[in-house]
Amino acid sequence: TNMQLKESDEDGFGIEIVLQQGDRKAPSCVHGPTLLFEKVCKGEEKGRRFYACSACRDRKECNFFQWEDDKVSEARLLAREEENRSKMPPFTHQEYCSRFRKFLALPLGRRFCQDCQLLLLPGEWEIHASHKMSQADDITEARLSRPSLMLKPLENKKSNAQYLFADRSCHFLLDTLAKLGYRKVLCVGTPRLHELIKLRNQEGKSDPMKSLLLDIDFRYAQFYGTDEFCHYNMFNHHFFGGEAASGVLRAFLDEEDGEKVIMVSDPPFGGLVKPLAHSFSQISETWRKLQTSEGGVVEMPIVWIFPYFFEPRILECFPSFTMLDYQVDYDNHPLYKHGKTGRKQSPVRLFTNLTPRDVVLPREEGYRFCKVCARYVWSGNKHCTKCNLCPSKDGRVWKHCSECQKCVKPSWRHCQSCARCALPDHPCGNSPGLEGCFNCGSLKHKRRACPLKDKRRTDNNRSKAMNSKRMSGAQRRANKLKKTTE
Ligand code: SAH
Ligand code: ZN
Ligand code: ZN
Ligand code: ZN
Ligand code: ZN
Repeated sequence: TNMQLKESDEDGFGIEIVLQQGDRKAPSCVHGPTLLFEKVCKGEEKGRRFYACSACRDRKECNFFQWEDDKVSEARLLAREEENRSKMPPFTHQEYCSRFRKFLALPLGRRFCQDCQLLLLPGEWEIHASHKMSQADDITEARLSRPSLMLKPLENKKSNAQYLFADRSCHFLLDTLAKLGYRKVLCVGTPRLHELIKLRNQEGKSDPMKSLLLDIDFRYAQFYGTDEFCHYNMFNHHFFGGEAASGVLRAFLDEEDGEKVIMVSDPPFGGLVKPLAHSFSQISETWRKLQTSEGGVVEMPIVWIFPYFFEPRILECFPSFTMLDYQVDYDNHPLYKHGKTGRKQSPVRLFTNLTPRDVVLPREEGYRFCKVCARYVWSGNKHCTKCNLCPSKDGRVWKHCSECQKCVKPSWRHCQSCARCALPDHPCGNSPGLEGCFNCGSLKHKRRACPLKDKRRTDNNRSKAMNSKRMSGAQRRANKLKKTTE
């Protein structure tokens, strides 16, 4: 049977994801097995299903497309395999490792090709002669231990831009994990945290920690051994290095060495929540199966770094998680970096199954402890005695609406005709801008939460449903975030 998990796509055309449970094998693009999507067209009972790339939301980055019911010829399959092979990294991880050893031993001059983002061996200098290059005195041991500074952050327009942690956020994360007693960190899409762990070990001032980086950016394979980095796709839990690589993860997750492991992931924000949650569950399941002691903790500790407006979606997948108030800062994010011009509040938060009160947020950065909520909160997050919680999600001071009986954003006003709080210029009443359930037309829930979801749509509710907007609030804000940052 299929486990149907649905999610509107970024364009809001009612494209949903069907996560399959092993029954049928999805075709692969260069990024590993594709995901099955379903395009729900207006006025149709059942949408048409197709396979598309798991990692790339932009067809320009990966144009794989196949209808579920397409008959693909043998010749086409072979051509596709050939194409996938041709787009693989130029070297295997083993080859990258032996190149790195040679590179370190180079007596005369080291060169890094900035155009190709490659550490060069002398025999290759000539073919890169016309490229932009960093020279010997630039490429010190110190620089080589900071690949995240050396490599150009990826800027794929749609979903895969690399936003690197600002130093203080990265240090905060690492300090927190260390204080909680974790000695192994599984870094999923957090190259800078991985790098900091190694650097700290080299300093030798604190207890050594182990780190394994899983990332789709194979440029990192140039700098890390096969037990430190795996070329991995977190949208389909695919290891490009096959069994050997997934074995590296299994060995890392095994706590037989007496060292506790935690996973930290900072996925691209344009990414789809459900496939991410599915991969994280698979990692967690691998961990769980390795646990020998009966009882005790049943969930692998996870910190998932993502914008606050995805909270409902993440909690839907991981009900045991809490969103913490800590605002994650980035170095190269045009809007949210902590700079001289004053700090713009970052929308990025930590979602975790750690006990909230154990994650101590720094007082000097404006956090305080709320005794009632038993967690650290942002200073602007005032405890509401009526709601009995600290309500703010976005860092602003929220206010209580007695009619809605809950706290709302400061910019919202209570609207009598909508009987709820909304922005003053919201589309009022039954205007098309109003969001409702696409399935049954109800304004009380979205399609994903529709109790009639699996029943047929009737003619009666279909017309109402067609008026409703398809994109979820979270996805829309993510798009806005992307637009404003481009
Ligand atoms: N803040 C983090 C970087 C986050 S940017 C840090 O400073 O360490 C998102 C990261 O996820 C990047 O490293 C990117 O290469 C990686 N990534 C993007 N898509 C991915 C995918 N499909 N699978 C695995 N990693 C991915
Ligand atoms: Zn692809
Ligand atoms: Zn509180
Ligand atoms: Zn109200
Ligand atoms: Zn209104």
